[in-house]
Amino acid sequence: MKIDFVPNLTGVFGSPVAENPTVLMMEAGYKALGLDNWKYLTLEVPPENLKEAISSLRTFNMKGIHLTIPHKVSVLEYLDEISSTAKTMGAVNTVMNIDGKLVGENTDGKGFMESLKKDAKVNPAGKNIVILGAGGAARAICVELAFANVDSITIINRSTKRGEELAQLLFESSNVTVDFLPWDNLLSLPSDVDILVQATSIGLYPNKEKPSINYDSLKPGILACDVIPNPPQTEFLQEANSVGAKTLDGLGMLVYQGALALTMWTGKEAPIKEMKEALSGFFARNG
Ligand code: NDP
Repeated sequence: MKIDFVPNLTGVFGSPVAENPTVLMMEAGYKALGLDNWKYLTLEVPPENLKEAISSLRTFNMKGIHLTIPHKVSVLEYLDEISSTAKTMGAVNTVMNIDGKLVGENTDGKGFMESLKKDAKVNPAGKNIVILGAGGAARAICVELAFANVDSITIINRSTKRGEELAQLLFESSNVTVDFLPWDNLLSLPSDVDILVQATSIGLYPNKEKPSINYDSLKPGILACDVIPNPPQTEFLQEANSVGAKTLDGLGMLVYQGALALTMWTGKEAPIKEMKEALSGFFARNG
Protein backbone atom coordinates (compact mmCIF):
# COMPACT_ATOMS: atom_id res chain seq x y z
CA MET A 1 0.00 0.00 0.00
CA LYS A 2 1.25 3.48 -0.86
CA ILE A 3 2.18 5.44 2.26
CA ASP A 4 0.71 8.96 2.43
CA PHE A 5 0.61 10.87 5.71
CA VAL A 6 -0.55 14.14 4.10
CA PRO A 7 -4.20 14.77 5.07
CA ASN A 8 -6.91 16.31 2.92
CA LEU A 9 -7.62 19.47 4.89
CA THR A 10 -11.00 21.20 5.14
CA GLY A 11 -12.48 23.38 7.86
CA VAL A 12 -14.24 26.56 8.86
CA PHE A 13 -12.94 30.13 9.16
CA GLY A 14 -14.85 32.33 11.60
CA SER A 15 -14.55 34.71 14.54
CA PRO A 16 -15.62 33.82 17.15
CA VAL A 17 -15.73 30.19 16.08
CA ALA A 18 -14.85 28.16 19.19
CA GLU A 19 -18.46 27.07 19.80
CA ASN A 20 -19.22 26.13 16.18
CA PRO A 21 -20.06 22.38 16.20
CA THR A 22 -19.79 21.82 12.41
CA VAL A 23 -16.60 19.77 12.91
CA LEU A 24 -18.66 17.04 14.62
CA MET A 25 -20.98 16.65 11.64
CA MET A 26 -18.26 16.85 8.98
CA GLU A 27 -15.87 14.41 10.65
CA ALA A 28 -18.78 12.02 11.31
CA GLY A 29 -19.42 12.22 7.56
CA TYR A 30 -15.78 11.50 6.67
CA LYS A 31 -15.66 8.62 9.13
CA ALA A 32 -18.86 7.02 7.82
CA LEU A 33 -17.42 7.15 4.30
CA GLY A 34 -14.09 5.66 5.44
CA LEU A 35 -12.27 8.88 4.47
CA ASP A 36 -9.71 8.54 7.29
CA ASN A 37 -7.36 10.93 5.58
CA TRP A 38 -9.88 13.84 5.58
CA LYS A 39 -9.74 16.37 8.44
CA TYR A 40 -11.95 19.33 9.38
CA LEU A 41 -10.29 22.18 11.30
CA THR A 42 -12.12 24.84 13.29
CA LEU A 43 -9.99 27.95 12.72
CA GLU A 44 -10.26 31.31 14.45
CA VAL A 45 -9.66 33.90 11.71
CA PRO A 46 -10.11 37.57 12.66
CA PRO A 47 -11.32 39.85 9.82
CA GLU A 48 -7.87 41.39 9.26
CA ASN A 49 -6.39 37.92 8.56
CA LEU A 50 -9.03 36.68 6.11
CA LYS A 51 -7.05 37.49 2.95
CA GLU A 52 -4.01 35.58 4.24
CA ALA A 53 -6.18 32.70 5.48
CA ILE A 54 -7.83 32.34 2.07
CA SER A 55 -4.43 32.39 0.41
CA SER A 56 -3.36 29.54 2.73
CA LEU A 57 -5.93 27.28 0.99
CA ARG A 58 -3.48 27.18 -1.92
CA THR A 59 -0.38 27.03 0.31
CA PHE A 60 -1.57 23.90 2.14
CA ASN A 61 -3.59 22.52 -0.76
CA MET A 62 -6.71 22.58 1.44
CA LYS A 63 -9.66 21.01 -0.38
CA GLY A 64 -12.22 23.50 0.83
CA ILE A 65 -13.44 25.69 3.62
CA HIS A 66 -16.66 26.89 5.24
CA LEU A 67 -17.04 30.57 6.05
CA THR A 68 -19.07 31.78 8.98
CA ILE A 69 -19.59 35.08 10.80
CA PRO A 70 -18.11 37.62 9.92
CA HIS A 71 -16.58 36.40 6.62
CA LYS A 72 -19.46 35.40 4.32
CA VAL A 73 -19.54 38.73 2.46
CA SER A 74 -15.92 39.94 2.74
CA VAL A 75 -14.55 36.66 1.29
CA LEU A 76 -15.99 37.43 -2.16
CA GLU A 77 -13.11 39.67 -3.25
CA TYR A 78 -10.52 36.91 -2.63
CA LEU A 79 -12.14 34.20 -4.81
CA ASP A 80 -11.53 33.31 -8.46
CA GLU A 81 -15.09 32.30 -9.28
CA ILE A 82 -18.48 32.66 -7.58
CA SER A 83 -21.62 30.65 -8.36
CA SER A 84 -24.51 32.64 -9.81
CA THR A 85 -26.75 32.23 -6.75
CA ALA A 86 -23.95 33.16 -4.33
CA LYS A 87 -23.31 36.22 -6.51
CA THR A 88 -26.99 37.20 -6.31
CA MET A 89 -27.00 36.68 -2.52
CA GLY A 90 -23.72 38.56 -2.20
CA ALA A 91 -22.49 35.91 0.25
CA VAL A 92 -20.42 32.72 0.18
CA ASN A 93 -20.40 30.06 2.90
CA THR A 94 -18.42 27.33 1.11
CA VAL A 95 -15.23 27.48 -0.95
CA MET A 96 -13.84 24.70 -3.12
CA ASN A 97 -10.16 24.59 -4.08
CA ILE A 98 -10.03 23.09 -7.56
CA ASP A 99 -6.33 22.77 -8.44
CA GLY A 100 -5.63 26.21 -7.02
CA LYS A 101 -8.79 27.86 -8.38
CA LEU A 102 -10.98 29.04 -5.48
CA VAL A 103 -14.69 28.73 -6.23
CA GLY A 104 -17.33 30.20 -3.91
CA GLU A 105 -20.80 28.75 -3.37
CA ASN A 106 -23.60 29.37 -0.88
CA THR A 107 -25.16 26.16 0.43
CA ASP A 108 -27.33 27.75 3.18
CA GLY A 109 -30.38 28.25 0.97
CA LYS A 110 -29.70 25.01 -0.90
CA GLY A 111 -29.61 23.20 2.45
CA PHE A 112 -33.04 24.64 3.24
CA MET A 113 -34.38 23.52 -0.15
CA GLU A 114 -33.02 19.98 0.35
CA SER A 115 -34.59 19.76 3.80
CA LEU A 116 -37.89 21.05 2.40
CA LYS A 117 -37.82 18.37 -0.30
CA LYS A 118 -36.39 15.43 1.66
CA ASP A 119 -37.60 16.01 5.25
CA ALA A 120 -40.93 17.84 4.72
CA LYS A 121 -41.53 16.26 1.27
CA VAL A 122 -42.79 19.61 -0.03
CA ASN A 123 -42.23 21.11 -3.48
CA PRO A 124 -42.45 24.91 -3.07
CA ALA A 125 -43.48 25.51 -6.73
CA GLY A 126 -46.75 27.44 -6.91
CA LYS A 127 -46.79 28.16 -3.17
CA ASN A 128 -47.17 31.48 -1.33
CA ILE A 129 -44.24 32.01 1.01
CA VAL A 130 -43.98 34.30 4.02
CA ILE A 131 -40.48 34.75 5.41
CA LEU A 132 -39.73 36.38 8.75
CA GLY A 133 -36.34 38.14 8.68
CA ALA A 134 -34.11 39.72 6.04
CA GLY A 135 -30.59 38.81 7.26
CA GLY A 136 -28.12 36.37 5.72
CA ALA A 137 -30.22 33.23 6.24
CA ALA A 138 -33.40 34.86 4.89
CA ARG A 139 -31.50 36.22 1.90
CA ALA A 140 -30.06 32.80 0.99
CA ILE A 141 -33.45 31.07 1.34
CA CYS A 142 -35.34 33.77 -0.59
CA VAL A 143 -32.96 33.65 -3.56
CA GLU A 144 -33.32 29.84 -3.83
CA LEU A 145 -37.11 30.03 -3.49
CA ALA A 146 -37.33 32.85 -6.05
CA PHE A 147 -35.80 30.49 -8.63
CA ALA A 148 -38.00 27.53 -7.64
CA ASN A 149 -41.20 28.79 -9.28
CA VAL A 150 -42.93 29.83 -6.08
CA ASP A 151 -46.02 31.97 -6.57
CA SER A 152 -45.07 34.79 -4.20
CA ILE A 153 -42.68 35.76 -1.43
CA THR A 154 -43.70 38.17 1.33
CA ILE A 155 -40.80 39.40 3.46
CA ILE A 156 -41.65 40.55 6.97
CA ASN A 157 -38.83 42.22 8.89
CA ARG A 158 -38.32 44.48 11.88
CA SER A 159 -35.94 46.84 10.08
CA THR A 160 -37.68 48.37 7.07
CA LYS A 161 -34.41 49.22 5.32
CA ARG A 162 -33.12 45.62 5.35
CA GLY A 163 -36.53 44.19 4.41
CA GLU A 164 -36.95 46.57 1.48
CA GLU A 165 -33.41 45.87 0.26
CA LEU A 166 -34.13 42.13 0.12
CA ALA A 167 -37.46 42.71 -1.66
CA GLN A 168 -35.65 44.93 -4.20
CA LEU A 169 -32.96 42.28 -4.74
CA LEU A 170 -35.59 39.62 -5.54
CA PHE A 171 -37.52 42.02 -7.75
CA GLU A 172 -34.39 42.83 -9.77
CA SER A 173 -32.97 39.30 -10.01
CA SER A 174 -36.06 37.10 -10.53
CA ASN A 175 -39.63 37.09 -11.81
CA VAL A 176 -41.20 36.23 -8.48
CA THR A 177 -44.01 38.36 -7.04
CA VAL A 178 -42.46 39.97 -3.98
CA ASP A 179 -43.79 42.13 -1.20
CA PHE A 180 -42.41 43.64 2.00
CA LEU A 181 -44.34 44.22 5.21
CA PRO A 182 -42.84 45.93 8.26
CA TRP A 183 -43.04 43.94 11.50
CA ASP A 184 -44.54 45.94 14.30
CA ASN A 185 -46.01 44.52 17.48
CA LEU A 186 -48.08 41.34 17.22
CA LEU A 187 -47.95 40.03 13.65
CA SER A 188 -51.05 38.56 11.97
CA LEU A 189 -50.20 36.49 8.92
CA PRO A 190 -51.70 37.01 5.46
CA SER A 191 -54.53 34.48 4.92
CA ASP A 192 -53.12 32.87 1.76
CA VAL A 193 -49.74 31.69 3.18
CA ASP A 194 -48.74 28.09 2.37
CA ILE A 195 -45.19 28.07 3.80
CA LEU A 196 -44.04 30.25 6.70
CA VAL A 197 -40.27 30.48 7.23
CA GLN A 198 -38.92 31.79 10.54
CA ALA A 199 -35.49 33.10 9.45
CA THR A 200 -34.66 35.50 12.28
CA SER A 201 -32.23 34.64 15.08
CA ILE A 202 -35.06 34.55 17.65
CA GLY A 203 -35.05 31.31 19.67
CA LEU A 204 -31.40 30.29 19.21
CA TYR A 205 -30.00 28.54 22.33
CA PRO A 206 -29.79 29.74 25.10
CA ASN A 207 -32.50 32.28 24.16
CA LYS A 208 -35.97 30.76 24.60
CA GLU A 209 -38.03 33.52 23.01
CA LYS A 210 -40.47 33.15 20.16
CA PRO A 211 -41.41 35.63 17.42
CA SER A 212 -44.23 38.00 18.26
CA ILE A 213 -46.99 36.45 16.11
CA ASN A 214 -50.71 35.94 16.58
CA TYR A 215 -50.38 32.14 16.26
CA ASP A 216 -54.14 31.81 15.77
CA SER A 217 -53.62 33.50 12.38
CA LEU A 218 -51.72 30.39 11.14
CA LYS A 219 -54.06 28.25 9.05
CA PRO A 220 -54.03 24.56 10.06
CA GLY A 221 -52.10 22.53 7.49
CA ILE A 222 -49.60 25.21 6.48
CA LEU A 223 -45.93 24.33 6.74
CA ALA A 224 -44.01 26.28 9.40
CA CYS A 225 -40.21 26.13 9.03
CA ASP A 226 -37.54 27.39 11.41
CA VAL A 227 -33.89 28.06 10.57
CA ILE A 228 -32.81 27.71 14.21
CA PRO A 229 -30.95 24.39 14.54
CA ASN A 230 -30.50 24.44 18.32
CA PRO A 231 -32.84 23.61 19.91
CA PRO A 232 -34.47 21.79 16.97
CA GLN A 233 -37.92 22.10 18.58
CA THR A 234 -38.09 25.87 19.06
CA GLU A 235 -40.92 27.67 20.86
CA PHE A 236 -42.00 28.93 17.41
CA LEU A 237 -42.37 25.39 16.04
CA GLN A 238 -44.17 24.23 19.19
CA GLU A 239 -46.69 27.10 18.91
CA ALA A 240 -47.17 26.43 15.18
CA ASN A 241 -47.70 22.74 15.88
CA SER A 242 -50.29 23.50 18.56
CA VAL A 243 -52.48 25.37 16.03
CA GLY A 244 -52.30 22.51 13.49
CA ALA A 245 -49.40 23.57 11.27
CA LYS A 246 -46.91 21.02 9.94
CA THR A 247 -43.34 21.83 11.00
CA LEU A 248 -39.78 21.64 9.67
CA ASP A 249 -36.82 22.31 11.99
CA GLY A 250 -33.53 24.10 11.20
CA LEU A 251 -31.37 21.09 12.00
CA GLY A 252 -32.14 19.55 8.60
CA MET A 253 -31.09 22.76 6.82
CA LEU A 254 -27.79 22.80 8.71
CA VAL A 255 -27.09 19.14 7.97
CA TYR A 256 -27.90 19.44 4.26
CA GLN A 257 -25.75 22.56 3.80
CA GLY A 258 -22.83 20.60 5.32
CA ALA A 259 -23.69 17.55 3.25
CA LEU A 260 -23.59 19.62 0.06
CA ALA A 261 -20.15 20.95 1.04
CA LEU A 262 -18.90 17.42 1.79
CA THR A 263 -20.00 16.29 -1.67
CA MET A 264 -18.42 19.33 -3.35
CA TRP A 265 -15.09 18.67 -1.62
CA THR A 266 -14.89 14.86 -1.74
CA GLY A 267 -17.08 14.03 -4.75
CA LYS A 268 -18.90 11.44 -2.59
CA GLU A 269 -22.56 11.20 -1.61
CA ALA A 270 -22.90 12.49 1.96
CA PRO A 271 -24.01 10.14 4.77
CA ILE A 272 -26.92 12.28 6.00
CA LYS A 273 -27.98 9.97 8.83
CA GLU A 274 -24.57 9.88 10.52
CA MET A 275 -24.00 13.61 10.04
CA LYS A 276 -27.40 14.43 11.53
CA GLU A 277 -26.90 12.10 14.50
CA ALA A 278 -23.57 13.75 15.32
CA LEU A 279 -25.19 17.18 15.54
CA SER A 280 -28.47 16.22 17.19
CA GLY A 281 -26.53 14.26 19.83
CA PHE A 282 -24.41 17.33 20.54
CA PHE A 283 -27.47 19.61 20.73
CA ALA A 284 -29.24 17.17 23.06
CA ARG A 285 -26.23 17.24 25.40
CA ASN A 286 -25.63 21.00 25.10
CA GLY A 287 -29.03 22.51 24.27
P1 NDP B 1 -28.49 38.17 10.64
O1 NDP B 1 -27.90 38.85 11.82
O2 NDP B 1 -27.96 38.43 9.28
O3 NDP B 1 -30.09 38.50 10.60
C1 NDP B 1 -30.88 38.39 11.75
C2 NDP B 1 -32.36 38.61 11.38
O4 NDP B 1 -33.14 38.39 12.57
C3 NDP B 1 -32.67 40.02 10.90
O5 NDP B 1 -33.71 39.97 9.96
C4 NDP B 1 -33.15 40.70 12.20
O6 NDP B 1 -34.02 41.78 11.97
C5 NDP B 1 -33.92 39.56 12.82
N1 NDP B 1 -34.10 39.70 14.27
C6 NDP B 1 -33.18 39.47 15.23
N2 NDP B 1 -33.71 39.68 16.46
C7 NDP B 1 -35.01 40.05 16.25
C8 NDP B 1 -36.09 40.39 17.12
N3 NDP B 1 -35.94 40.41 18.44
N4 NDP B 1 -37.29 40.71 16.57
C9 NDP B 1 -37.45 40.69 15.21
N5 NDP B 1 -36.46 40.38 14.34
C10 NDP B 1 -35.26 40.06 14.86
O7 NDP B 1 -28.43 36.63 10.98
P2 NDP B 1 -28.52 35.39 9.94
O8 NDP B 1 -29.63 35.65 8.99
O9 NDP B 1 -27.18 35.07 9.44
O10 NDP B 1 -28.93 34.20 10.93
C11 NDP B 1 -30.24 34.14 11.49
C12 NDP B 1 -30.36 32.81 12.22
O11 NDP B 1 -30.32 31.78 11.26
C13 NDP B 1 -29.23 32.55 13.21
O12 NDP B 1 -29.80 32.23 14.47
C14 NDP B 1 -28.50 31.36 12.66
O13 NDP B 1 -28.15 30.45 13.68
C15 NDP B 1 -29.55 30.72 11.76
N6 NDP B 1 -28.93 30.04 10.62
C16 NDP B 1 -29.24 28.72 10.45
C17 NDP B 1 -28.70 28.02 9.42
C18 NDP B 1 -29.03 26.58 9.28
O14 NDP B 1 -28.37 25.91 8.46
N7 NDP B 1 -30.01 26.06 9.99
C19 NDP B 1 -27.78 28.65 8.44
C20 NDP B 1 -27.57 30.05 8.67
C21 NDP B 1 -28.12 30.71 9.75
P3 NDP B 1 -33.42 43.27 11.69
O15 NDP B 1 -33.04 43.30 10.25
O16 NDP B 1 -34.58 44.15 12.01
O17 NDP B 1 -32.25 43.46 12.63
